[in-house]
Amino acid sequence: MDKAKRTAIIAGNWKMNKTPKEATALLKEIAPLVADADCEVIACVPYVDLAAAIEATAGTNVKIGAENCHWAESGAFTGEISTGMLKEVGVEYVVLGHSERRQYFGETDETVNKRTKAALAAGLKPIVCVGELLWERECNITEEVIARQIKLDLWDVTAEELKNVVIAYEPVWAIGTGKTATADQAEEVCAFIRAQLAKLYDQDAADAVTIQYGGSMNDKNADELLSKVNVDGGLIGGASLVAEKFAAIVKAASK
Ligand code: PEP
Repeated sequence: MDKAKRTAIIAGNWKMNKTPKEATALLKEIAPLVADADCEVIACVPYVDLAAAIEATAGTNVKIGAENCHWAESGAFTGEISTGMLKEVGVEYVVLGHSERRQYFGETDETVNKRTKAALAAGLKPIVCVGELLWERECNITEEVIARQIKLDLWDVTAEELKNVVIAYEPVWAIGTGKTATADQAEEVCAFIRAQLAKLYDQDAADAVTIQYGGSMNDKNADELLSKVNVDGGLIGGASLVAEKFAAIVKAASK
């Protein structure tokens, strides 16, 4: 399948930024700027912003995602949010396994897998993040790390379910650092991810998966990164908080 047939997706990851009022204001700024997008546009926002974000984007092409979810339907998990809660407020996507969750909050491939399975079972589309640490790249084990994450994070995910999975390749050394992977580095790992998916499923299934790059993608470097055949979109942190920059990335993905 050629790249043009895959869904290009630009998703903002707002992290722990913006109150509900600020989220409404930013989305009202973003929506008209991306109204003509020829790609899917998503804003993944803090839990407390979800309801306001869904209201602010009603009738627009901007979809709303969450930044995590729990695997249990309900129960004694203080501070957690279930997939059912997200579905009921109108969330469509959920970021899972972000490196900040892995680094600061004890997320493991096992818990990413449990969250992924739960999200899919609830009808949410997970954006599953994988990526190597700088040390791992320097030790030449990037492919080993990525292969392990892909295998474990998608363990027991069926080929049918894979159709609703987005993979985000986010080299940890490039997140929030201003250090972008070169377009060739991004392409190399995104192509490797697709090859791993082909091994675990089959080539057709792998060819249909949207693979994003994330890590200091911005309005200046988006064109080059998104020109690569296996880079189908972007997961954007810092630049997603500035309407014009985010819209410029969406425009780059719409070409
Ligand atoms: C991210 O948070 O997923 C991310 C890629 O951040 P940034 O664009 O700021 O590097």
